[in-house]
Amino acid sequence: MSSAAKLLTVTRPSLPPFDDMVGLLREIWDSGILTNGGPFHERLEAALGEYLGVQHVSLFSNGTIGLITALQALEVEGEVITTPFSFVATAHALLWKRLTPRFVDIDPRTMNLDPERIRAAITPSTAAIMPVHCYGRPCDVDAIESIAREYGLKVIYDAAHAFGVRLSDDNLFAHGDLSVLSFHATKVFNTFEGGAIISPDAAMKRRVDQLKNFGFVDDVTVVAAGINGKMNEFSSALGLLQLRDIDAMIARRGEIDAYYRDRLNGVPGIELTGAGNAARPNHSYFPILVGPEFPLTRDELYQRLRANGVFARRYFYPLISTFGMYNELPSAAQSNLPEATRIASQVICLPIYPMLEEHEIDRVIAVITEASLS
Ligand SMILES: *Cc1c(COP(=O)(O)O)cnc(C)c1O
Repeated sequence: MSSAAKLLTVTRPSLPPFDDMVGLLREIWDSGILTNGGPFHERLEAALGEYLGVQHVSLFSNGTIGLITALQALEVEGEVITTPFSFVATAHALLWKRLTPRFVDIDPRTMNLDPERIRAAITPSTAAIMPVHCYGRPCDVDAIESIAREYGLKVIYDAAHAFGVRLSDDNLFAHGDLSVLSFHATKVFNTFEGGAIISPDAAMKRRVDQLKNFGFVDDVTVVAAGINGKMNEFSSALGLLQLRDIDAMIARRGEIDAYYRDRLNGVPGIELTGAGNAARPNHSYFPILVGPEFPLTRDELYQRLRANGVFARRYFYPLISTFGMYNELPSAAQSNLPEATRIASQVICLPIYPMLEEHEIDRVIAVITEASLS
């Protein structure tokens, strides 16, 4: 074996702290405060603010309601520029608000919205940009900011993948008008279901907090057609538990990422995509591209992996723009989205999560390397 055999040195995390969870559940139940901004909700907002280096966090029941609420809070109306290369919730949030998505192609190196193409897509009806930090790899936030300023557009970052991602010179979540996180079970940090909006100031956080609680400002006053987006106490408590070990979890993901890179580097036809420009990436996904030189198509490799018990995901395929509720938009045309179309046809995200064991990672690698020799 090569020296890479020793790559995995961080201790694999132990089982989740079930005893702690049961204790928390009892504590919450006994307190009689199950939701509506209780003590765990308050503590998690404070703890996340500290961890993420931001002042104004509003917890949500999930990221999708967070996206919809963000659009409501900013009173966006008209057309919104967004990426087709994302989870479908990104564009669905626009449709729920009766906004018109305008799909713009991605930069194939970052897999994020291409700023020059954003600029070219702006029309008099454009109201906002909703970019995604896809796979947790930061968007070109400076370029997007200057375009938004030039044209007077709002920017809502779908930061569902970006928990814990840090830039070298400033805070990723300080960019745009609002950032929306997801704490769904499949994400780097989870509360089973959950999410958050990060606001730039106290006034915006107040607005967001009102909207997630039906528009109430006190027990008799309702100021807006709000929604129910509140995070409950048990999810909040789970978040506090997860936060204890989050750096070790991200470090372990980083090791798995490095291990894959080491072993898959040079496999003909497999392109290891760039790691992005974050000072501290979160390794939330491990996307590879299956090129035309690989003996199997992407879908054949995907099926081969499945047949060997490896449940990789074709994130993000199909493109959002191909679904029936979007595909008649002029911007959904394949000719408008050549890079996203190609990458969606080549991408596979390999399993990456802290509990993954070394022999399991080796099996993933073996299936791919053996397929490359067929
Ligand atoms: C997971 C995800 C969402 C939705 O978040 P939920 O918490 O599942 O509602 C939105 N956008 C992207 C890019 C996601 O990956």
